[in-house]
Amino acid sequence: MRYFLITILIIFYSCKLDNELVPVDEDRVKDILDKMTIEEKIGQMAQINLTVIAKGPSKWRSFYPLEIDPKRAKKAIVDYKVGSIINTINGKALETRNWHQSISEIQKYSVDSTRSRIPIIYGIDGIHGSNYAVGATMFPHQINLAASWNKENAYNMANVCAYETRAIGIPWNFSPILDLGIDPRFPRQFETFGEDPLLVQRLSKAMLRGFQGNENEISNYNVAACLKHFVGYQSVISGKDRTPAYIPDHVLSEYHIEPFREAIKDGAKSVMISSGLINGIPVHANYDLIIKILRQKLGFEGVILSDWEDINKLHTRDKVAESKKEAVKIAINSGIDMSMIPYDYEQYCRFLLELVNEGEVSIERINDAVSRILKLKLDLGLFENPITDFSKYEEFGSKKHKELAYNAASESITLLKNKKRILPIKGNPSILVTGPNANSMRTLNGAWTYSWQGNLADEFAGEYNTIYEAISNKFGSRNVKFIPGVAYTESGNYFDMNEVNIRKAVDEGKKSDIIILCLGENSYTEKPGDLNDLNIHKLQSKLAFELIKTRKPIILIINSGRPRLITDFEPFMSAVINVYLPGNHGGDALADILSGKVNPSGKLPYTYPAFPNSLLPYYYKPSEVQNNNQGAYNYVGKVNNLYDFGYGLSYSEFEYTNLNTDKDVYNSKSDTIKINFKIKNTSKIDGYETVQLYSSDLYAQITPDIKRLRDFRKIFLRSGESKSIDFSLPVEKLGYFNVKNKKITEKGEFKLMIDTLTSLITIN
Ligand code: BGC
Repeated sequence: MRYFLITILIIFYSCKLDNELVPVDEDRVKDILDKMTIEEKIGQMAQINLTVIAKGPSKWRSFYPLEIDPKRAKKAIVDYKVGSIINTINGKALETRNWHQSISEIQKYSVDSTRSRIPIIYGIDGIHGSNYAVGATMFPHQINLAASWNKENAYNMANVCAYETRAIGIPWNFSPILDLGIDPRFPRQFETFGEDPLLVQRLSKAMLRGFQGNENEISNYNVAACLKHFVGYQSVISGKDRTPAYIPDHVLSEYHIEPFREAIKDGAKSVMISSGLINGIPVHANYDLIIKILRQKLGFEGVILSDWEDINKLHTRDKVAESKKEAVKIAINSGIDMSMIPYDYEQYCRFLLELVNEGEVSIERINDAVSRILKLKLDLGLFENPITDFSKYEEFGSKKHKELAYNAASESITLLKNKKRILPIKGNPSILVTGPNANSMRTLNGAWTYSWQGNLADEFAGEYNTIYEAISNKFGSRNVKFIPGVAYTESGNYFDMNEVNIRKAVDEGKKSDIIILCLGENSYTEKPGDLNDLNIHKLQSKLAFELIKTRKPIILIINSGRPRLITDFEPFMSAVINVYLPGNHGGDALADILSGKVNPSGKLPYTYPAFPNSLLPYYYKPSEVQNNNQGAYNYVGKVNNLYDFGYGLSYSEFEYTNLNTDKDVYNSKSDTIKINFKIKNTSKIDGYETVQLYSSDLYAQITPDIKRLRDFRKIFLRSGESKSIDFSLPVEKLGYFNVKNKKITEKGEFKLMIDTLTSLITIN
């Protein structure tokens, strides 16, 4: 009977569904708002977790699969008029049918049983595909998309994710992440596009287009994006999640805010606020950042969403509010439109109502927030089509989508070392595949994969190939042996490991021609992913050193969410490949690179450190390198990375020559520098190369960065082919934010660099 009713419900809503875009009439927002009671308005500003309205033992945990609890749903949606729901139950993926039915039911409560008939807006974290839907296409994480240096991959990921998220009835996605992945210790570096602001900006732009559609026409195959986490979230002192950052205004502007500015210009529909603190002020309580910068300076008009429980945390964690009620007052008055509460909604709604009645929060502020939320719901066409029709999403989990995910993985994998050109693997060697990351779908996918922490990937992704399976398929099961040596523990902390059979792995290594050693990390994110030691786990080094004793060539595969230190044993490796977190198709993509079917073209989107006390992005200041060898008090201060930002080898060889600019002197800031150089593939193998243009400001009012990325392009060159490449660099792009937080372009000399070529220009 239950399924019968639900089917009727779906047919009912599906009849309303068409793929026509619904133009948003601004007057409509006003009409709806004018008819709303204050309780209805406050409800719209409340977002709760799905478990709160699901059947189960508590509001924190639900039965699986999901069933909506009518009593709980009625209380939240009808009595409290809650406007938004998020997440999945128990952080675990659901079948598409289960998703669709549940969201249809939720919309039935909101549309049919409330006075205002305003649909719910459902939001989720689909950050590398629709990762909470069983059968969805799992792309690599953002860090891989950045390593591919190809914005098409970012677009494809978002576009497929939008399609498959909308297919299950969800119209709002908490992605892309615009945080700078500047700290290799941080447990969410893999969720970023790496350490460079330009890379972040270009790829997030592409992702935004993939989510929201061209020209931001939100169809039933698009979702509203949510830029996060505004701002400075990953630049913390301790390297740990949700801990204090100290960032001067001009540094925020120069590196952190720029990517948000561009995405806002492009029409991003929502922004999530950082859960951290900057200069002692929790961002959720920072009026200057939210209103003066995000709203007024950047002109953001969409919905501003809190992060998880962060309003409460102004009281419970950050101690800037003496009570939870005061926390609500501070956050709403600082500009938060919707609170990701996510559990104690009764209390939040009560406090906000009291604050309005007491005149502590103005009705204008409430109307402002609710108008933006209504506009988002109207933009998404939710009033016309509160739920989508799954039968119209035939491409869900399709071969076509999987191919795009495979392409992104294979373009991102980064070859860091290839001694004596051991790769691609030649002939028909016997291969030992070993290490804790060799046979795991969990480690290939990382967190946010079928569950929040990614720990259930092997349960859901059995049909895909682990690294070992893919290598075995490629090189023949008779030639390929797998012995883990060491393994992650099945339960407990993500970093716990066991020694399994190192001796056996070494014995097998001695009998093999090549050892493929797969090291890295298990999956994690957010607070549970905090780390005390950037060195790779001791048992993994032990395995590496024992295998080195076999004197067999070792190909090291790094599969991790951040660059764990491998400095001690890296010199003994014949080849090193970083696969980052390449997703469900990462095993196959890696095997194709090992065999030579695919020529690697990834480049590091972050600096790979060599030592735990030398953690710098590539745009450090000159004083990091100080050599005093005058004879007295000699010392050397140097930057000693293992691999630099932007580095990555190919099986091809490229030669760069003839770097020229159209002029030596540029007299106006509105001028454009025309740069030209030649590149030739001097090898016998066709390949892709990412050409990167850097600049150095030789002298400036504030000490300039040693260099900055100004442009890049991924190009394809056949064996022997030469190309002439042009870059156009507006002079003003050489400017920077000074200590008064003003963008200036200074006169003086600048060095332009491409590969090892340099050219000096003057700005007058
Ligand atoms: C994370 C956000 C995420 C939210 C909802 C928070 O803990 O910081 O990135 O969007 O949870 O799942």
